[in-house]
Parts: sequence; C-alpha cells; structure tokens
Amino acid sequence: MAPFDDAAQQLVAIGARFYSRGWVMGTSGNLSAVVSRKPLRLAITASSVHKGTLSPSEILEIDERGGTVGARPGKSSAETLLHLEIVKRRGAGAVLHTHSVWSTILSDAHEHHRGFAIEGYEMLKGLDGVGSHAHREWIPIVENDQDMTRLSRQVRGVLKKFSDAHAFLLCRHGLYTWGRTLADAERHVEILEFLFEAMARGGRRM
Ligand SMILES: [Zn+2]
Repeated sequence: MAPFDDAAQQLVAIGARFYSRGWVMGTSGNLSAVVSRKPLRLAITASSVHKGTLSPSEILEIDERGGTVGARPGKSSAETLLHLEIVKRRGAGAVLHTHSVWSTILSDAHEHHRGFAIEGYEMLKGLDGVGSHAHREWIPIVENDQDMTRLSRQVRGVLKKFSDAHAFLLCRHGLYTWGRTLADAERHVEILEFLFEAMARGGRRM
C-alpha cells in the first residue's frame, strides 16, 4: 500500500478511537503523519471534519508550507502550521492534537505558571525514553491564538526552550503530542490523557 493510503487508514482508525474516548468532540482536534521526508509531505485531517466518522477521503496530503498537493482538493486543518512546526523541530513522524476536558481544565488551572510538572506516576514510563516513575515531565502551556502564523512562532519558541518535552498544551484548548510513528504518538496521547485525568480528578497540584 502507498505510504499516504496507509497513513490515511491509520488516521481514520485513530480518529474513531479518540472520538469514542471523548477527546475530539464536535469536529475538534486534528491528526497527521509524515508520508515523505524529501520532499516533506504529510497526511492530515481536512478542516472541520468529524473524527468519529472520518473516511480516507477526508485525509489530505500537504507540502512543507501547508498547501494541499495530490489528487484530493480541500482545505487542511486550521492548525496545519503547528503540525509542520512540530515535524520540522522535533523530527516527528506523527502529530496528534486532542481537545479533552482534562487537558482543558489543567491548562486553565496552571496558566499562570505557563506549565506544570508531572512526576511520580508509573504511567510516565509510556513516554518515549522515560524509564522511571521518578521522571519529571514539564508540560508547557502556550497562550491560545487564532492567528496561526503567530501561534506557530510561539510553539517554535516553546519547543526550543523545552527541548525534552513530549507535549504541550494550548491554553483552554487542548493537547499536542507527537512521536516517531503514529503508534508512538497515539501511545503518548493515551498516557498523557490518563495522567491529566489522574492529576485533575485527584486534585494534585491544582
Ligand atoms: Zn485545536
């Protein structure tokens, strides 16, 4: 199967799983995977599509500037520039963005510190390169912005400043995380959403 078709199928399946968990309600969130490095090409969800009922025809191919290429016309996700920023700065093979209740609550509660730490949880070991519950993961919080060029500049700064971070939150908006493969990125979403919920429900560091 062509890399794009393979990625599109996987993104459709991930969309359905995330929707069933309540992480991408009401057309929110967006999902992408790198299908070629040179030239850079991503498979990414089209703008304003429902993630629970995605079809491969709602996955578009974009170039390094976010323009649509390939046979399918359409407008890619509004947050395409953020996906490209993460792919370029982190060498990620996949970027996943969710709008969960718990990430929204924590980003609101910790906005004044522009981030929060997660440490002491066994589930941290699901993050790439983390071998102990004693790991301290800093989750940076970026101010939300509808100007995507300005927001992608902010994201670039945060990725540079927190070079070990596996994720960041947009304030009162949602989670961005990534991985070498789609499976790695999906695992990161599951791990982080678990940790956010455990922290927020447990009332720790709120
Ligand atoms: Zn979003």
